[in-house]
Amino acid sequence: MFAGQAISVTMHDHGIAEMKFDLAGESVNKFNTVTVSELGQALDALEAADDLKGLVVTSGKGVFIVGADITEFGSMFTPDASGGINKQDDPNNVNFNRLEDLPVPTAVAINGYAMGGGLELCLACDFRVMSSKAKIGLPETKLGLIPGWGGTVRLPRIAGADTAIDWIASGKEQRADAALKAGVVDGIVEPEHLTDAAIKIVQAAIDGKMDYTGRRAQKTGPLKLNQTEAMMVFETSKGFVAGVAGPNYPAPIVAIECMQQSADKGRDEALVIEGEGFTKVMVSEQAQAMIGIFLNDQLIAKKAKTWEKKADKKIHTAAVLGAGIMGGGIAYQSALKGTPIKMKDIAQEGLDLGLAEANKLLSKQVNRGRMKVEQMGAILASIDPTLSYDGFDAVDIVVEAVVENPKVKNIVLPEVEKAVNDDTIIASNTSTISITYLAESLERPENFCGMHFFNPVHAMPLVEVIRGEKSSDTAIARTVAYANAMGKKAIVVNDCPGFLVNRVLFPYFAGFMGLVKDGADFVKVDKVMERWGWPMGPAYLMDVVGMDTGSHAEQVMAEGFPDRMTKTFKTAGDVMFENDRYGQKNGKGFYVYEMDKRGKPKKVISEDSYQLLAPHVAERTEFEQDEVVARMMIPMATELARCLEEGIVESAAEADMALVFGVGFPPFRGGVFRWIDSIGLEQFVAMCDQYKHLGKLYQATDRQREMAANGEQYYA
Ligand code: NAD
Repeated sequence: MFAGQAISVTMHDHGIAEMKFDLAGESVNKFNTVTVSELGQALDALEAADDLKGLVVTSGKGVFIVGADITEFGSMFTPDASGGINKQDDPNNVNFNRLEDLPVPTAVAINGYAMGGGLELCLACDFRVMSSKAKIGLPETKLGLIPGWGGTVRLPRIAGADTAIDWIASGKEQRADAALKAGVVDGIVEPEHLTDAAIKIVQAAIDGKMDYTGRRAQKTGPLKLNQTEAMMVFETSKGFVAGVAGPNYPAPIVAIECMQQSADKGRDEALVIEGEGFTKVMVSEQAQAMIGIFLNDQLIAKKAKTWEKKADKKIHTAAVLGAGIMGGGIAYQSALKGTPIKMKDIAQEGLDLGLAEANKLLSKQVNRGRMKVEQMGAILASIDPTLSYDGFDAVDIVVEAVVENPKVKNIVLPEVEKAVNDDTIIASNTSTISITYLAESLERPENFCGMHFFNPVHAMPLVEVIRGEKSSDTAIARTVAYANAMGKKAIVVNDCPGFLVNRVLFPYFAGFMGLVKDGADFVKVDKVMERWGWPMGPAYLMDVVGMDTGSHAEQVMAEGFPDRMTKTFKTAGDVMFENDRYGQKNGKGFYVYEMDKRGKPKKVISEDSYQLLAPHVAERTEFEQDEVVARMMIPMATELARCLEEGIVESAAEADMALVFGVGFPPFRGGVFRWIDSIGLEQFVAMCDQYKHLGKLYQATDRQREMAANGEQYYA
């Protein structure tokens, strides 16, 4: 009946047609311009067929439909001259209404992922059967958007307001059992019987055994809630959701407001309200930034896969040197994701601690029902604790995670090089020391690179893979492949002190030290930066990193970049360090830490810190929020620009993602470069000039000035 590049429609026996989504040349189905336009044509054919009695919708791919093609968002939803987006005449909204209004019963066979627009299409059908392996959801709010093809209209009318609020506000994907329980789908079927099951339902509806017209009336009419009920469910959830999402993520609230405003309306009016809500969020800076993050994430995943393909062999077994905070975490993550690992330390206590940490993390998963006891046993058994190098000649990669001391590393690295075979990759987890420098102690520097994890290893997604002057492509490729196997986000960077993330994090800390020296209250600075979006303010972050670690790293950075990172005064960090206030690790730093009921450290404001700082800082001064943000962010931003200009990192996108994944830079701002773009280069340079008296870290680079003069941006 219809054959296109994305959709085909064929007539089966008994007048039941099958509309199959199978986008040519792609591994997944998605709503791009072609699919949207062909859906309109397929519906033309269906509406024109006299012998049509029913319709099943299927997919020819492993997934059903993953949603709208985000790379086409710009062209799909371009604001008009008035700044609005016309969603009423949006071709896919028209399509879905036509599908819903076909004069015959319809059922969809959801064989795999049906996300966003994919699920919205399913909701437009009368019946939904789902493979036990499939997952569905409306993830739009995770991109700072709301569902825009009827999700806020049909989901509450099918499954009730509570379910719709939960699914849409969380954006989570849902398994088949949860979808059935919530009433979003009508049945779960093993994959091989799925299409047959959908045909049977349609046949039953044709035979009058299933009431499809009643379902349509429910979907196109108002919500079945009286005013008091509606008030309760929407107002309560708005309060709760706002508390979880925070003020910087408005989309979930906008979605709830749309559902609330359209509760007493029919489908067509409700779609207009959804369209207005969609426009409001789509043109927001948050949505643009979060869509940017999504696209950047795809870019870094693609680059990591390309590196992995260059690896001439897989990493079958690994080893880690040092069973401390990092070594223990690396061993756990490697074993968890299926790469057996030797864990070597010089002290039995180190090994015991490393294993105890792995045990604790695995037990948590067992207690939460996410893992069976036998699985936990098998994972633990794949960590081989050892005090010797026995068996190191059989491992494919060794990650060095001994203490951050170049002298120790210069002894340990040649030692391990002798114990492994000529082909083994050695990667250092150093946080700051130059890889090119460490390679000097090795006979096979080509097999050596950096593999910088973040603390805690199991929770932080980023791994910087650092290419020293002599690191070979093979060393980088195999190390990236190992990071991929560990479920981490690998970003390849070139060597320099601090690499990418620490090189820009220490200037940010320098900004903080300057503020405190000039009389700012560190608690207030933390509050401003947290409100700006950081998961923790700089004082709190320094406490978590540890004053000893920080002080050491600061020296390495100052040696590397003396012109702008040399300390010129005794900093608040120095004062804490000298007074044995190392931070969370010994229970006191800028704050003091008390254990809460769950055994987690809780920070408490400490008067002692103020007293210790008093002799070294100016009289208390109140700073405007904008000034705090500028003084904190400019040093990070100018240093990041230098990293990009020097080729330490290949693209603005990777730099932004490294900060989001490595130190929790606020995702709704999209990254430092996206933030600079949002204020404009010209404005950014003017802001730098305003603070240039604070030193070189506050100087915009020549390239930034040139970009400002030419009206350029980091993102096209
Ligand atoms: P740690 O002090 O907790 O652990 C170091 C371990 O190495 C100890 O168990 C020690 O016994 C062991 N060790 C010392 N010499 C050894 C040798 N010759 N052979 C084998 N084991 C030896 O340190 P950590 O915090 O886990 O840091 C380890 C490395 O990871 C450092 O280079 C550090 O800069 C880097 N790093 C740390 C963090 C962090 O936040 N802690 C983050 C990223 C990277």
